[in-house]
Parts: sequence; structure tokens; C-alpha cells
Amino acid sequence: MTNRIHNFNAGPAALPLPVLEEIRDEFLDYKDSGMSVIELSHRSKWFDDIINKAIERAKRLLNLDDRYHVLFIQGGASQQFCMIPMNLAVDGKSADYLNTGTWSTKAIQEARIQGKEVRIIASSEDKDFSYIPKGFQTNSDASYLHFTSNNTIKGTQWSEFPQAGDVPLVSDMSSDILCRSFDIKPFGMIYAGAQKNIGPSGSAMVIIRDDMLERTPESLPSMLKYTTFADKNSMYNTPSCFTIYTISLILKWIEETIGGLDAMERINREKAGILYDFIDNSDFYAGTAAKDSRSLMNITFRLPNEDLEKRLVKKAGENGFGGLKGHRSVGGCRASTYNATTIESVQALVEFMAEFEKSEG
Ligand SMILES: *Cc1c(COP(=O)(O)O)cnc(C)c1O
Repeated sequence: MTNRIHNFNAGPAALPLPVLEEIRDEFLDYKDSGMSVIELSHRSKWFDDIINKAIERAKRLLNLDDRYHVLFIQGGASQQFCMIPMNLAVDGKSADYLNTGTWSTKAIQEARIQGKEVRIIASSEDKDFSYIPKGFQTNSDASYLHFTSNNTIKGTQWSEFPQAGDVPLVSDMSSDILCRSFDIKPFGMIYAGAQKNIGPSGSAMVIIRDDMLERTPESLPSMLKYTTFADKNSMYNTPSCFTIYTISLILKWIEETIGGLDAMERINREKAGILYDFIDNSDFYAGTAAKDSRSLMNITFRLPNEDLEKRLVKKAGENGFGGLKGHRSVGGCRASTYNATTIESVQALVEFMAEFEKSEG
């Protein structure tokens, strides 16, 4: 395992090494089935056990009561952008959105494409999405209030969730699901593309409450109805078996090795703290997100000029650090410190950045 890099990719991203080793070790003969996990039927007892364990673990980790269903739906988080307004926007009530970046903007666009009455409740576009809005008024007559809990590209995160009274919150948690514990009660639905914090690409994990499922119009195509996935335990058609298998192992790792979401959050805070403290104490590096809006998962920063940023990314690559280039739409640098990124990797990165500053600054 000596060739593994310090992986700061934004997604697909680093996964826990013990999980990858477990996958390797049982790959050719999954639990005496005589088959690998990507060869066995999704209707088999082996896969039933995989998906049911994943659901049980997600329910335990997030403290979900019986009203919540855990679904796995292909099409990533992006498909959820259209399924949400299709299924959950009630006739005569607006679909409300908070706009905090690229992904929120896409979610809004998909609701508009369907001709839904969309209201933007607050936006941080005026300052290039560098902060999380505060002090806005929500509407009590909305179908739902949608927000992106962590803005992967700009490096901002809601530290406290918006409050909307009885209006169900709907949240894109693609890049911070299971990074911390939170109270599920105000949420009608949360979703996450798997490939940032909980697995490989190929599926979104969707957590949806009973009363939200009742909204699904009969007229929708089967594969775009939440009820289809809820009624068939996400196996109306062939699900993304390998992705769900890996998710189930990662949930086990969070639960049994890390010790649950409070422990996971402590580690994530420590990692982000190391990097932010270093950046704040440097005149060479500058964080781009407002301090009170900073993400635990995607740490965005700039150097004095673009040339130095390119050199940093290049030199980092030569020294065993990957994924530090900012998103192509914003430039700069970004270190993604998802659950699987280790404290050791973050410490090594800070040492490398200090060296770089010394030699180039
Ligand atoms: C990556 C990302 C998406 C897009 O996910 P796909 O699974 O590729 O569709 C959506 N929202 C957020 C917050 C993301 O980070």
C-alpha cells in the first residue's frame, strides 16, 4: 500500500483504507458464495443482507425513526434536482430555495424547467457565494425549503440549518452527509450522491419521510417516483450493487471503527482546524470563504497569484498529494477533507504547504 497518495480529491474521493482492504479481501469469493459481490444477483440473500444492513446502519447513525425511509437511487445527486420538484412540489404552493452556490443554482434550474413556482428565499450570489446567508424570512406556505448543506465548490457550509417552522426542509448533503450529527426532525428529505463522503459513484442515498412520499403524483414515470423505490426496497430494477455494498461497509466503519457521528465530527473538526489555522497564520495563503461559513469538508484557498497556484498543485502532485486544484469554475486551490481523509494526511499537507511557502514565497 506504499503507493497511495494523500488524497484531497473533491469527488470521487478518498475512501477509508480498511474498507478498501476489506473489499479486496472478500472480492473473489463473497461470504462463501463462490462469486464476487459484483457477480451475484441483487435478488439473492447476500445482497438482501447488504442493502438491509446499509439501511439499518444509516438509520442508527442518523437516529431515524420509523417514518424515514432510506433509498438508493441511481442518477446521482443531479437526478434528485429534478425528482424533488416532480415529487414534492405541491400544486398551488411554491417551491422555496436558498441559493448558496453552483449546486443550489442547478437544483433551482431543474425546478424552473418543470414550470414550478420557485421562490429564492435568500442568496449569497452578491459576494460570489463566499458566505452562508443569515437573517432571512422563510414562508410558512411553501411545499418545502431546499438548501445545499455544504457547498463543495465554494467551501462554505451551514453550521446551523435554516429554520422553516412546519415547512419540511429538503437538503442536498452530497458533500457532508455523515460528517457530523444533527437533528433529523425538521427534514422531510435529505439526499447525497455517494461519491464524496460515503462511497463510490453510482447512487444517491435518499432519506425521505412518510408524509413526503404521499405527495408523489401517480402520473410520474415509475423510475422517477420516490414511492417506487420505497415500495420495492430500492430494487424495482437492478440497483447499483457495488456502490451500495461499499456504502454499507463505510457505514460500518463509521459506526464500529470511528465510533459514530459525534466521533466522526470531532475528527473532521480537528482536520479542518489544522488547515484553517495554518492558512490564517500565513500571509501567503488566504482562505476564500467567510470565516463563519467555512466548510469542514472543502477548504478553499488562494495564493498570491495564479502562477503560484499552478506551481503548488504541480509540486504537490510530485510529492504525493492529489486533488488540490480548485474547481474549474472558480480556480484557486481546494483541499477536500472528507470523512476518510486522515489527520496524518492533513498534517503532511500543512508541512508541505509551509515548505512551499518558504521556497517560493
Ligand atoms: C458533487 C455534488 C453534486 C453532484 O453530484 P452527482 O452525483 O455527480 O450528480 C450535487 N450537489 C453537491 C453538493 C455536490 O457536491
